[in-house]
Amino acid sequence: MALNRKLKMGMVGGGPGAFIGDVHRKAARMDGGIELVAGAFDINPRKSKQMGRELLIDTKRAYRNYEEMIARELKLSDGERIDFVSVTTPNNWHFPIAKAFLEAGFHVMCEKPMTFDVKEAKQLKQIVKSSRKVFGLMHNYTGYPMVKLARDMVRAGDLGKIRKVVVQYPQGWLAQPIERTGQMQAAWRTDPKQSGGAGCMGDIGTHCENLSEYITGLKITHLCADLSIFVKGRRLDDDGNVLLRFNNGARGILHASQISIGEENNLAIWVYGEDRSLEWHQEHPNYLYVKEPDGPVQVWRRGNGYVAEKSPAAGRATRLPFGHPEAFFEAFANNYCNFADTVRAKLTRTRPDPLALDFPNVDSGLRGMLFIETVLASTKSKQKWTAFKK
Ligand code: NAD
Repeated sequence: MALNRKLKMGMVGGGPGAFIGDVHRKAARMDGGIELVAGAFDINPRKSKQMGRELLIDTKRAYRNYEEMIARELKLSDGERIDFVSVTTPNNWHFPIAKAFLEAGFHVMCEKPMTFDVKEAKQLKQIVKSSRKVFGLMHNYTGYPMVKLARDMVRAGDLGKIRKVVVQYPQGWLAQPIERTGQMQAAWRTDPKQSGGAGCMGDIGTHCENLSEYITGLKITHLCADLSIFVKGRRLDDDGNVLLRFNNGARGILHASQISIGEENNLAIWVYGEDRSLEWHQEHPNYLYVKEPDGPVQVWRRGNGYVAEKSPAAGRATRLPFGHPEAFFEAFANNYCNFADTVRAKLTRTRPDPLALDFPNVDSGLRGMLFIETVLASTKSKQKWTAFKK
């Protein structure tokens, strides 16, 4: 039987002035199936209450902290209490918060990188398994229709055997030490206690790792990394270049940077196969370029019937007709739609549509943490080429 109500969402993080919590709130509610009813929105209890008022939720459900949120939500009746929580805090809080909610019986959508380190990631994988709850990870770039189309082209063998992947995520916003001005997003990202062992590589390098494994279906097995800290006094990498080896023998280049002045969010990927290659740019996400040895470049454009025919997942992730751009918010919303359908299936003890299972999960999160660990190990080592640990 279908669930005859909206899913109830809670949020930890996303207080006044925060970046990604607000994107989550807007994206989750885009399609009308989810309502935000509770939150512990800020590390500062007063600001959490303030956020609750701004969001016009019941002020009793804007909590002082996540522990209070769990205790009080558990006292509410089924259907009134939250069904799931979205964790949108800095990285050091992801694990304790996700663990506490899963163990209390709530489904969880969590920001990336999934945890602080690999140890926590492995523990979280066990907790997700034993809780039997749904766990989604917000690697939002997998939510784009043209990324799903790229994945499905590779799956269908259109490119032939994959030989090489080039993936980049340059930004320029940390080219100066703005963390010293109190800029809140910069302050925690450059602090090893909140960000984890890596700076730029953890923050945006993991998007490159996730995107390349998602599109190709391959796994990185070895890498050779060179991380740098360009801004004086900074304690975490703000730039990095990594060579990759994949499990089918393919090779790759991954570069992530936050000191590349002039770059905004220039995430892009090139995948080269034996027969064809493809190219996708996050800043122009409605187009996928396909190239073959002796022919003109094909431009596949989102919203056309031929895209949905080739990739039902891309069709499902499309709201607007061609020529009306969809982008960042919609990609988040697509991950929320699939996550929410999977939660609904759990609540109604039914099988989710197989396409609904297409969202990053705890395994993707563990891959991201292994990537960070291996990049850090390679940077320190003398022989450089370093294998992923299991
Ligand atoms: P931010 O600094 O803008 O916001 C963090 C918010 O969390 C603040 O409101 C802060 O008060 C709150 N907070 C901190 N500790 C808390 C706690 N214990 N309980 C309740 N609230 C707490 O940070 P941001 O840029 O929004 O990043 C947050 C997370 O989202 C990070 O893990 C980051 O890596 C991730 N992120 C992902 C994307 C993406 O594209 N998927 C983009 C940006 C950020």
